[in-house]
Amino acid sequence: MILVQRTTIHEPDLERAMMYDYQCEYCDGTVKPRTVERESFKHKKAFIILEDVTIGVCDRCGNRYYGADILHAVHELATGKRSPEKTEAIPVAHLHPA
Ligand SMILES: [Zn+2]
Repeated sequence: MILVQRTTIHEPDLERAMMYDYQCEYCDGTVKPRTVERESFKHKKAFIILEDVTIGVCDRCGNRYYGADILHAVHELATGKRSPEKTEAIPVAHLHPA
């Protein structure tokens, strides 16, 4: 099951400025804001997709960074505290037939 949520998260500019343009934890690159159509999150209780969400992406290694508000929304969706806009089916298979 995939829960899909069109995000309504809009941070104040100040918070946004603090969240990005810092050095990547894994390389010398800089984390830049990027708004993506869909970002998937694996939560222990569910697989969540946020649409039209702004995340931080390292301009060198591509590592992705998520703000506390995003992780909070993912947690609420995964635990049922927030209702998703829609739910989609995910294809599941084994690589080799049993
Ligand atoms: Zn990096």
